[in-house]
Amino acid sequence: MKELIQKAASLLETNVVQVVIGYGKGSADRTRAIFSTTAADCEQLIFDSRCIQNLAVYLTKAEIKKMGKPAIVAPLPVLRSILQLAAENQITDDSLVVLGVSPESELIEFESLAAIETYLATKQIAIEEKYQTTIKAIKAMPVSERFAYWVKELEPCFKCYACRAACPLCYCTRCTVENNQPQWISVASHSLGNLEWHIMRAMHLAGRCTDCEACYNACPMGIPIYLLTKSMLQDVSENFGTYGPSLHRDNTLSSFNPDDKESFIR
Ligand code: SF4
Ligand code: SF4
Repeated sequence: MKELIQKAASLLETNVVQVVIGYGKGSADRTRAIFSTTAADCEQLIFDSRCIQNLAVYLTKAEIKKMGKPAIVAPLPVLRSILQLAAENQITDDSLVVLGVSPESELIEFESLAAIETYLATKQIAIEEKYQTTIKAIKAMPVSERFAYWVKELEPCFKCYACRAACPLCYCTRCTVENNQPQWISVASHSLGNLEWHIMRAMHLAGRCTDCEACYNACPMGIPIYLLTKSMLQDVSENFGTYGPSLHRDNTLSSFNPDDKESFIR
C-alpha cells in the first residue's frame, strides 16, 4: 500500500508523530504489529486481509505512550475501538493521527474523532446470520442445559488471558482477576473459575465491545468467546437501544435514566 507508506513516512519526517503503529510481516504467513519510528521503517508496512489484529490495543499501553504521539493504521474494527476509547476519555483529538483503511483498502485521512464517527455511521456493526442462529439456539436452551453448554465450551480455557491482552477495551492497569485481597475471581481453571472469569469479562465489555473478534483470534484454544460478546451486543441493543461506539453517549452500564422502566431507579 504505497499511499499508506508515503503518508506514514511523511508524518514521521515532519515530526507530526513519533511512532507509526501498523501491520508488518510476521512469522509463517501471519502479520504482526510493527512500530515504525523512521521513514525507512515505514517500508515494512503492509495491509491485506491477514491484518486482523486490533492495533488500538496499543494506544493505552504505557510503553507506547512513552514513544511519543502515534499514528495508527486503522481498518474498520480499529476505527470503532478508537471511537470507543475516545468515548471513555482514553484518547483525544490531538493525542493521535488516524490512518484509516476502508474495506476497499483505500487510505482515509480523518481530521477528527467526530469525522470517524460520521464515517462509521454508514458502517454499522452487523452480526452475521450464522452467529445469530447459534445465539438464538443457546438462549432457547433450558437453564441447566445452557449452563452445561458453557461449562463444556469453556473447559479448555487455561486462563492465559491472551483474550484480555488482545482487547483494546481491557485497559485497566490492574484487572479484577489479579486482585487477591479479596479474591473475587478464582485463579484456578476449573468449571466455576472459568465461568466466573468469562462472565466477568463479558459483563465488563457489555455496551463497550466493538465486535472486532481480536479476543477470539488470540485464544490458543479456539474457544468461541465471540458468542458471549456478540450476544451481549444484541442484549444491550434490545434493552438499551444502543449499538456500537459513540462520542455522544454515556457508557451503557455505568449511567442511568430517571425514566428507566425498572423500579430500582425510583
Ligand atoms: S471483547 Fe473481543 S470482540 Fe469485543 S472489543 Fe474486545 S477484543 Fe474486540
Ligand atoms: S485466550 Fe482462551 S484460553 Fe486464554 S484465557 Fe482467554 S479464553 Fe481462556
